Amino acid sequence: MPEKIRTLIIGSGPAGYTSAIYASRAGLSPVLYEGMEPGGQLTTTTVVENYPGFAEGVDANILMDQMKKQALRFGTDIRRGRIRSVDFSSRPFRLTDDKDNELVADSVIVATGASARYLGLPSENRFKGMGVSACATCDGFFYRKKTVAVVGGGDTACEEASYLAGICSKVYMIVRRDVLRASKAMQERVMNTANIEILWNCNTQEVLGDMNGVTGVRLLRKDGKVFDIDVDGFFLGIGHHPNSELFKDWLKLDENGYIVTLDGSSRTSVEGVFAAGDVQDPRYRQAVTAAASGCRAALDVERYLLENNL
Ligand code: NDP
Repeated sequence: MPEKIRTLIIGSGPAGYTSAIYASRAGLSPVLYEGMEPGGQLTTTTVVENYPGFAEGVDANILMDQMKKQALRFGTDIRRGRIRSVDFSSRPFRLTDDKDNELVADSVIVATGASARYLGLPSENRFKGMGVSACATCDGFFYRKKTVAVVGGGDTACEEASYLAGICSKVYMIVRRDVLRASKAMQERVMNTANIEILWNCNTQEVLGDMNGVTGVRLLRKDGKVFDIDVDGFFLGIGHHPNSELFKDWLKLDENGYIVTLDGSSRTSVEGVFAAGDVQDPRYRQAVTAAASGCRAALDVERYLLENNL
């Protein structure tokens, strides 16, 4: 017999835990699967300085641990492991976890987040958290009055470069073609910022560093020239991919794979399935906005269960 669950939450970032806190307090008996990366993307960073309520900043792992404990305190059933398959063709929804347990759920909140893309260089991996970052708003502050590089030419890279230009003395943008993919407005913004220099037609060969972290980047230009630049930080801005693969046959996704939510709510194209956090948000992608959308999802679930006598 499959296990019957009233509210199943998939994911354990700020969106998942916040929806769990609200759902458990509302008596919806939520079960939360932590997924592949317990605590979510935030756990790949160090100090979170822009989450309200922590005047001195907060260690990302402590923040996530506190959210988990808060959800546990109100009775959320938090489980290690991930959901392996879903079937949203009929209600209740049918799911299987990675231990082959079968579940049926009256409502589902998808909060599986997104993952930043990396170049895949061994040197980039070596200096992750030691100068290599995929989040300017998280880590930019640590490079005050220093020199950094941002890879990419899309809106994310331009936004990161603009943000960093307000903090750092110099920002290089490493762009692999001779054009930016970003919107006109963002292009103009970076072009008109005095301390941003765009290195066109360049690919990163290697992130250079020592025991203390990143010291530079070795670049290969399209004309064959190899050269090094000195930087203290190396930021990835080559996009994110939403973790929506599992749902692609069931839920409406946008052209970049983000789950489409309806009318500014957390409702998805399947009634009874809700989405929160970065998996449905290509724009803001902040811990606080993810937490807020988790709250909205729990409130939407509560209403849905009530209206459907579930
Ligand atoms: P994009 O896919 O738009 O851009 C990715 C950029 O990274 C491109 O310039 C691409 O180069 C470059 N790139 C990709 N892979 C590599 C690689 N291996 N080496 C070097 N460069 C690489 O992603 P974004 O995250 O920028 O944007 C995603 C979506 O979100 C877009 O629709 C964007 O408009 C939107 N967005 C909107 C924002 C806003 O409105 N404020 C803010 C951020 C994103 P190339 O061009 O050569 O392919």
